[in-house]
Amino acid sequence: MESDKRARVEAWLRYGADLELGPYYRNRVATGSTPPSNADATSQTGELAHPAMSAAARAPSAASSVVPPPATASLPIAAASSRSSAAVPFAQAPSLFEAGDRIKDDTFQLIRETIGDCTRCKLHKARTNIVFGVGSMKAELVFVGEGPGHDEDIKGEPFVGRAGKLLTQMIEAMGLRREDVYICNVVKCRPPENRLPEKDEITTCSPFLFRQIDVIRPKVICALGSCASQTLLQTTQGISRFRGEWFDFRGSKLIATYHPAYLLRNPSAKSEVWKDLQKVMGVLGLQPKRK
Ligand code: URA
Repeated sequence: MESDKRARVEAWLRYGADLELGPYYRNRVATGSTPPSNADATSQTGELAHPAMSAAARAPSAASSVVPPPATASLPIAAASSRSSAAVPFAQAPSLFEAGDRIKDDTFQLIRETIGDCTRCKLHKARTNIVFGVGSMKAELVFVGEGPGHDEDIKGEPFVGRAGKLLTQMIEAMGLRREDVYICNVVKCRPPENRLPEKDEITTCSPFLFRQIDVIRPKVICALGSCASQTLLQTTQGISRFRGEWFDFRGSKLIATYHPAYLLRNPSAKSEVWKDLQKVMGVLGLQPKRK
């Protein structure tokens, strides 16, 4: 398919995923598609979100419409829990990578050396840099995104573009600095035209992510967006079904929340994300940054 047509179709598929149209999502993962562009931000600001999370969303917008937050996102926690605990197979289903698969005495250096000048999947063809991850190896909190975008590919560092700036604001609103946490992605090479990572790419690359998490052993993992949370939780459920709930991931607590790029397009969802981040802060004993 021509690239602009493909981009438009994939934008619709993303829209479908946001609305929890599961079959769209499954097809999209199987065939590959485009994640939201960082360019399509709106100019709204989220109510109830920490003010520090607002600046990036005030940037000029090319978006023609604002998708309202999914209806389920505003359900009381108890209602959301009872619905989604049945829907999300995580913890009951066997994992491809059980905690027992931990590599003894693994290190970041070893993981990076194993990745090498990777050509294991087709993403290597267009990449500039492998984007391994950034932050503290002793972090109590790990953020996992989808995959590098243009800026990240050039810089070799995750979350440095517009979505990254918003993520940094989110981290700071939590009373942390970027260097206090660890930030990485499901795939380490940029998918062309910022499409979603495809299934084979995720399968090839995610073991390195799991190894990174195993080395850090964080208290909390915050999965950003559908790709990260579905990969870590091994589910095809729409993220709005289970975001804000706690799961166990190989001994760490895992919570899924919306991707900062989604917030750039849908600033009204910031209040939901801030609620999720406050849960993380509760577990880590953090105080919000003073306004
Ligand atoms: N989006 C991601 O998911 N990861 C990045 O590193 C940048 C944008």
